[in-house]
Amino acid sequence: MVFDNSIPEWNLDSFYCPDSENLKLDLAALEDKRLAFESKRSLVSEGRKPSKEQFLDLIKELEDLSRLSQLLCCYASLYFASDTSNPKAQSFSEAMDEKMAVLDNSVIFFELWWKELDQESADELIKAAPLYDYWLKRTRAFKIHTLTEAEEKIINLKNATGSSALINLYDTITNGYRFKSAFLSDQSEREMTREELISYVRSSDPAHRQGAYQEFYRVYAQGGPLLGRIYQTLVRDWNVEKVVLRSYQSARGVRDKTNDLRPETVESLLRVCKEKGPSVFGRYFKAKAKALGLKALRRYDLYAPLNGQAETWSFKEAMAEVESAFDQFDLEFGQLAKRVLNEGRLGAQPRPGKAGGAFCASSVPNQTPWVLTNYCGYRHDVFTLAHELGHAVHSLMAKDLNLFHFHSALPLAETASTFGEMLLAKRFLDRGLTGRARDDLIFHLLDDAYATVGRQAFFSLFETKAHQMTVSGATWEDLNQAYYQNLQTQFGDSLVLSEDFCWEWVSIPHFFHTPFYVYAYSFGQLLVYSLWRLYEREGPDFYPRFKAVLARGGSQGPEAIVKEAGLGPLDDDFWLSGFEYIEQMLNLIER
Ligand SMILES: [Zn+2]
Repeated sequence: MVFDNSIPEWNLDSFYCPDSENLKLDLAALEDKRLAFESKRSLVSEGRKPSKEQFLDLIKELEDLSRLSQLLCCYASLYFASDTSNPKAQSFSEAMDEKMAVLDNSVIFFELWWKELDQESADELIKAAPLYDYWLKRTRAFKIHTLTEAEEKIINLKNATGSSALINLYDTITNGYRFKSAFLSDQSEREMTREELISYVRSSDPAHRQGAYQEFYRVYAQGGPLLGRIYQTLVRDWNVEKVVLRSYQSARGVRDKTNDLRPETVESLLRVCKEKGPSVFGRYFKAKAKALGLKALRRYDLYAPLNGQAETWSFKEAMAEVESAFDQFDLEFGQLAKRVLNEGRLGAQPRPGKAGGAFCASSVPNQTPWVLTNYCGYRHDVFTLAHELGHAVHSLMAKDLNLFHFHSALPLAETASTFGEMLLAKRFLDRGLTGRARDDLIFHLLDDAYATVGRQAFFSLFETKAHQMTVSGATWEDLNQAYYQNLQTQFGDSLVLSEDFCWEWVSIPHFFHTPFYVYAYSFGQLLVYSLWRLYEREGPDFYPRFKAVLARGGSQGPEAIVKEAGLGPLDDDFWLSGFEYIEQMLNLIER
């Protein structure tokens, strides 16, 4: 590993200092603003209606209050991420959580009143606040799924001991799982955590990859019947609450609406993934088998490394690569990314106690985001840098929006970050890499494409089926079978599947925590591939249209934003052009 001494670390002092006068003043200001807003309740209670001026003032006051609370929460989370073992950071973060709960209760009256208001009065008031149009209409769009205040309270109270308790139970059970190291024949037996065990599926030793998966599913199969029943209870609860009581069109329709996507659009995405995925990724699995020197790829070998040269980059070199890749696309794109580093907001040093992984925190408009990574010099660290700085560019481009329109909806949230990674990949490939180094990079891109597009889309197809089957009385054994069939459809004869994988579905936390979340991954990735194809065709003309997507943040639904930028419609052809990008990659390695 190559280290230079110039890996930057962010300086949170320019945000707040712990116990500083500044921080105390802002916390006091937050409390004052909360009480002031709460006192406005009389403007809308007992059938009263605010004037247009009063309405606009209320919105601005709520925005101002939310802005300050989000800044303080952002600071609390960054302070904690800087040093997770610092008890002061921990207690500050907990104190902020409590303040937020109180704050939510103080302002909820506005949203409830707004949803209940008659359409004519609402239309009039929306005209008085045109800049907040989308947010105001979106909030009201959920009115038909909102129950009475008393019913909402009962659901909230009962959820704490019902579905939320079941999700906690699932987490507690699975977090408690320990795995045996017996498959590593050279070591004495010991217990491993899930993370430790799973790292062996990327081992260069085929026996270790197989052993890790078998041990993983041995443990999940033991708990499987119980986890399966927890899952089915959650599914029935979802159906009773969302479909029966709240009148959503379907189980998945709940998520479609939250994502502001038409069901037809999601169906088009999943249809194309189902039709195209098995053949395109099938080619990939065969190419990978060949590159690994295997007769056939086993499911166990899916993430096997190619063992290309483990090249490393100093931080300075890595940053120069990312900057050049962004600059080549557009100077503004590069300029905005550089702001993060220049303003001391990039924390890249790997330090004990610091939060793992990487993120970009952009809490409010017109503020340079804070980016955390743990830079160790490997290629994947350079890509992480491009990814997180892409997020930062996205939020800097949306700087002129109001707070309620600032954050993109989930399906668009990864647009600039994924695009940033592709710009970096292009830079590396353009350099004329050859042999193992080139193949290694392309296999890395295809691994990502499979994990994000193919795998997640088939998860989503299973999820829809599992909800339908459960509501019609299927057992967990039926779901096991359905999951295995889903895998068979996905892989066909392109790799060797083994029965252990029929338990995979009980090991996917998203299925339990956030039903129907996973298709957003396929959506985001294919969208970017498809945009990339346009960029290849249009060259510099593409940038303004891409920028138009980013600058709209969450001020419209994803489909409207893409369409307005002249980049849609999101139909079968659009998704198919995303697959064409994956096929281009395949053509590079199938020789
Ligand atoms: Zn991301």
